[in-house]
Amino acid sequence: MIAELISVGTELLMGQVLNTDSQFMAQELAPLGINVYHMLTVGDNPGRLKEAILKALERADLVILSGGLGPTGDDLTKKVVADAFSLPMERSKEAEKALYERFSALGREMTPNNLQQADFPKGSLILENPNGTAPGCITESGSKAAILLPGPPRELFPMFKNKVIPYLEAKSGCRLFSREVRIFGMGESSVEYQLKDLIENQDNPTIAPYAKVGEVTLRVTARCEQLEEGAALVAPVINEISERLGDIVYSTEGVELSGVCAALLEKQDATLAVAESCSGGLLASALVDVPGSSAFFLEGAVTYSDAAKLRRLGVSPATLRKYGAVSAECAKEMALGMRKTSGADYALSTTGIAGPAGGTKEKPVGLVFVGLASSSGVYVGRLLLNGDRKRIREITVLNALDLLRRELMGFKQRV
Ligand code: ATP
Repeated sequence: MIAELISVGTELLMGQVLNTDSQFMAQELAPLGINVYHMLTVGDNPGRLKEAILKALERADLVILSGGLGPTGDDLTKKVVADAFSLPMERSKEAEKALYERFSALGREMTPNNLQQADFPKGSLILENPNGTAPGCITESGSKAAILLPGPPRELFPMFKNKVIPYLEAKSGCRLFSREVRIFGMGESSVEYQLKDLIENQDNPTIAPYAKVGEVTLRVTARCEQLEEGAALVAPVINEISERLGDIVYSTEGVELSGVCAALLEKQDATLAVAESCSGGLLASALVDVPGSSAFFLEGAVTYSDAAKLRRLGVSPATLRKYGAVSAECAKEMALGMRKTSGADYALSTTGIAGPAGGTKEKPVGLVFVGLASSSGVYVGRLLLNGDRKRIREITVLNALDLLRRELMGFKQRV
């Protein structure tokens, strides 16, 4: 099957909004064996949109449009699709009812223009939108179909996953089964190099890399008739990847690093506390993001100033004088001090220069120390990170978590 993606919105053409909808949809369509040969962005202009839709329908079986479904005057996608398919618009009683219910649940009054959101090209299959007011729809005509989705990614992504993929699976007669391999400690290009032959020879399952800040995710997806069959196709590929990459693979089930640490701590019935300087609370926040974190997470302290490191953690004045706050010695005493005062089994610490100012020749921006204290002593890793302040802080957190994961798994430390 051939598909084209049309993004609707002048804000996209003006460069005010990055087109993440198209990126997401293209990634999702590939494993279904649906080829995307063209992607187009059109402003909120009915003439140019109709031209784009007609052209796309000549070349493809399926046109997926995002944006322009809302109640404002420039939201015209549905009318133009109806026009392109020579269909009248029709109000959906169910969608109208759902709109009234949604507005009343939000305690907001519905203005009449909102009712446009209940109008669809005649005969369309309506896709409910639990994350917004504008439903999507699928309009078919002969062998061609148009899928209309709301623009905001937080509405489009779940609608695509929950409604569009099952529709496309039914249409193409195949289902998808996928698993995510999470990797920390190797760049995307090195990962791809190690798996070059697997990636190049892929067909079913497919291996798609997704880079996230500081880490790499590989999604292994199989097309299948039954999910068990998909699982059986994916498993050996996951095993091969895990074998080649070794202990830098921290999850083969798409779990975040913080979630993996949480599961290990819970399994060992152990507790954790954190003392943060340069990460400024991000580490504690990543841990608290894990549901049920109260079972293992005792406390976190953002000890940003020297005075806080002295008072709260008992870092010695001599250490701060001699080595400075950004030093292995300070990271070590921070972790030890936090472990002692919190009573936790494990304590992590972070201290570094996140920039953009504050770097020197000896201690450049990006120099970070992460510490881990446990019953077996204290370990400190030295990192030299690049990127802006936000990125340095985020990667510091991942490194601190990985220090803990490696300790809990009995692996050799990497940094
Ligand atoms: P709603 O009216 O429910 O917001 P809509 O379908 O009318 O949905 P638009 O008005 O076209 O959506 O866009 C709303 C917002 O969604 C845009 O301002 C933009 O922030 C975001 N958005 C739209 N298209 C895209 C896209 N292709 N990629 C990422 N974000 C997008």
